[in-house]
Formats: sequence, structure tokens, C-alpha cells
Amino acid sequence: MLSPAIDDIQQIPLIHEIHLDERHLLNTIDGEWFEILHHFPWQDYRQFGADYYNALYDFNQASAQAMVDEEVNPETKEEARERLLFDRTTAPIPKSPPAPILYQGTIVDTTSRDVSAADVAPGVVPLRLAGRKPKCFFGLLKAFIGTSLMGFPAEPEKVYLLLKSNPAFARVCGFFHKEKDRTDYHYQQIPALRKLEQFDQIMTDAGIWERLKLSQVRANLASGVIQPEEELVGDTTHYHAYSSFETVHYHDEKGKEQKKSQSKPTKRCGCEDWNHCPHEWELCDDGAGTIVKSGKKMIWGHKASIIGLPKQGVVIDAIAVADAASHDGQTFFPHVKKVLGDHADLAQSVKRVLYDSACDDAVLKKRFEEELDVELKASFNPRRSKPITKDLPRGMERITPYGVPICQAGHEMDYQGIRYANEKFIYRAPLGDDGLCVCIGCRDQASCCNQGTQTGRTITVSFDTLKHIDADDPPMAKRFKAIMTRRPAVERMIKRLKCDLGDDRLSKRGNGSFQAYLDKTLISYQLLIRHLH
Ligand SMILES: [Zn+2]
Repeated sequence: MLSPAIDDIQQIPLIHEIHLDERHLLNTIDGEWFEILHHFPWQDYRQFGADYYNALYDFNQASAQAMVDEEVNPETKEEARERLLFDRTTAPIPKSPPAPILYQGTIVDTTSRDVSAADVAPGVVPLRLAGRKPKCFFGLLKAFIGTSLMGFPAEPEKVYLLLKSNPAFARVCGFFHKEKDRTDYHYQQIPALRKLEQFDQIMTDAGIWERLKLSQVRANLASGVIQPEEELVGDTTHYHAYSSFETVHYHDEKGKEQKKSQSKPTKRCGCEDWNHCPHEWELCDDGAGTIVKSGKKMIWGHKASIIGLPKQGVVIDAIAVADAASHDGQTFFPHVKKVLGDHADLAQSVKRVLYDSACDDAVLKKRFEEELDVELKASFNPRRSKPITKDLPRGMERITPYGVPICQAGHEMDYQGIRYANEKFIYRAPLGDDGLCVCIGCRDQASCCNQGTQTGRTITVSFDTLKHIDADDPPMAKRFKAIMTRRPAVERMIKRLKCDLGDDRLSKRGNGSFQAYLDKTLISYQLLIRHLH
């Protein structure tokens, strides 16, 4: 049913078509996408529809405006290359104030525009857009969401391919195939690739994808599909960039020659002579950078910071890192701050956040505590690779960088706790498979255990020997380990986003497109978990 709020003077669809075979399709099509699109609650998206039509109007106006003559931009490509390098978050000489770590889209104010939510519905396009009736917002939105739900990247080329090749998909989105030999335009015909690209661009530039994503997470939190938890878990993940890089040579503060990989300078205009036109040089793929993985493997890509709830295994947000070459430890704080600011329910419930060893840093932990009133728990980073072999208790061969003593017979000692009075960690010999202490019958007993002891070896190690371990939060403790078992939940969330609802190879350039891609994926993800709830 259409809402009665739609203006009287507007044309509403006179015939409501019911396709019997759509019901049949509901039962036969494998996959959640058809059901989700078939029952799509378009009423919830009217405000976004109004925002889109307003942005489309602005877009049409802007393209109609004539170009004004401007002066030639005197900057050379070589100068641009260096300026762009020093503008990056990971610039060789830090800027003051520092550049933001996370990507920040432009905020578009749409509150005072002509088209309002009550003016739009499927097939109903506001009067303001005179001329050829544009493609319906709801159909276009469903097409992008459906593409992601089918496991493909929600990018125009893929959406177009699926609309063209899958009649059930096209129809559930509200489009139909053009009859052969028909040349006239109809708004319900499957949109051309160019129209899909324009829709995606407008949704991206007007910040609608991002706001839609936020509204989906909020709706799921409000309805109980997602329960607030006491912990958040985070990590970063990379996507392969759709660009190449060049190596830029520069001089650092000490005048020493250095080099860094960077995306190539380009101009967005169509001018023939870029050296003598008024437009600005920019990076052809801003945000892309070299990401160093374990084993020194290097990837040219974009980096996203992911935050989720570990117990439910649910992704809450994904955000593009402003410069992919940034260190992982820098992205978590601003992202947690944003998520807690976006979701009041989580700001109330979250007491602790989990990350890998990239965030094992005392200063950072203090910052979380003081500014967000949240405990940061990170996997232990020993910052040393060699074991400790000096000043060990009798019978011990070494202590690993992680604070685990290993005896001459090769047994790992069990951590027991701390004796604060004399600042010592306490360990005891473990039990064997037979349930008895491994010291019983050990060939080294004479040189290790006290004579007559039946309980096995107990040792103490002073705080000074393990200077790199925080005695207030030792990583050997059972509690620490129990908390950190929830951290890998984020890796399964990342797999969901990257493999099940998309692809880790990007087909567009720039952080704006990358953030839009993350947002589209997350919108589909939130719809999917609501559907499965
Ligand atoms: Zn130009």
C-alpha cells in the first residue's frame, strides 16, 4: 500500500501488479536475497529517497551550469607529487595539527530541501524533477543491496550484469527488460550502466550510503536484533587497490634522501593539456598505500578498520583508513570513539575493547581509560624475540618472551599468580596426562626439586627478571587468556564482509569509493542478520 501522505496532485501507480510467479519464486529461489528484496520495507527508506532526489536535482543543476574561465594552475606534476606526499597521514614530516587517521566524508546538509520523505514511494518521483521521469530510488537501492546479498561487490558493473542476466532479480527490484525494437524511454526499464554509476556516485557524494549504514545498525540495536555487549573487538583488514603506484623520492628533515610508494598524480578534468589547465592535481587513488603483512609481504591496497561485538560475532562498523600505510595501533582509538559516539546503547554497555598486539601500548591504554572510560586489552607484544636464560631458578632452562618458564626436562611451568610482598611471579610444574605432577619420576628431580617434596616444583621469578611484563596485567594469567580468546571473533566478521558479501579486490579508486563500498556491504550485512534473526 502507498502511504496516504503522498500529495494528492501526484500521480500514484493506478494498477498494483501481483505476479503469481513471484510467490512461486519465493519458494524456489535459493538464497536469502530474493526474500529480503521481496519483503523490502520501503517505508523505512523514504527519507533517504528524498535525500537522493534532492541530491540528484543538485547534480543535474550543476552539470547544466556553464564552465567559467579560470586561471591556469601553475603547479607542475612534480610539485604536486611532493605536496600530495607531505599531505598524507603518513607524511615523512608530521603536520600540525596532524591529519586525521580515519577517512572523513563530506557532510551534506539536506534538512532544508524541497523534497521530503512523504513525497516519495516506489514508482513515485517528486515533481521537482521535471522532464524524463528518473529511475526509482527504491529500485536502484534494492539492486545494489541484492548484488551484495548474492555475494558480489555492490558496484555498478556487477549490478548491471545481474539485472541484465537475472530476470527474477530485475523484477523484484521493480525493473523490466526492454522489449525488442522499442526505442522509447520508460523509467521502469533496466537502468543503463551509466545511470547506475550516477546513482552510486550521488549516494556516495551526498553521504547517503554512510547515513543508511548507520540507520541500519541503529535499527538493529533498537529492535534487539543486536544486543549491546560489554566488549568491542577490532582489527584492520586490507583490500587490493585498483591502481598502481610510483616510488617518490624526497628529502627528510635531515636532508637525507628517502623514498615512499604513492599513487600517481592525476587530474579529474577532461582537458587536453593538463600542464596548462586551471584544475588541481590529486592522487589517482587517494588512501591507497603499502601495507606490510607478516613475513614482510607487501600489498598495495586500501585499509579498513573493523569493529564488532565478539560474543554475537556481529560487525558494527567498517571505516576506511585515511592512509593505508598507517600503523594499525593508530586506527583503533578514533574508531572506537566514533562507534561509541554513533551508538548510545553501546556507549552505555561497553566497558572493555580488545585488539591484537599492535595496540599493546601503555600510553594508548591510558588514553582509552581517561578519554573513553574503557579498558583496552591487547594481545601481549613481548618486544623481544630471544628467551631469558640468565638468573633463572634451579632446574629451569629458559623463560620464553611471553613469560613462560621451561624446565630442563622440557615442561612448561603453569602460572599461579603473584606474591606482591616480594614482587615475584609464582609458577608450578604442570600435571601430566596421568593427572600426577610431571616431577614425579622425572630424571632431573635430584638437580631441581627439593628433597622430599611430593607436590612437584614451585618456582618464583622476580619482576626484575621479566621487566617487559606488566605485573598488573600479566599475559600468563588465566583471566587474560580467557578474555583474549574472544578477540579472533573479529577475523570471522572480516571474512563475512570480504568473502560472503563482496570481494577483496576493489574496482574503483579513492577513499570515497572505498568507504561507499564498505557502507554498501554493511547495509546488506545488517539487513541479512535482521532477516536471519
Ligand atoms: Zn583541466
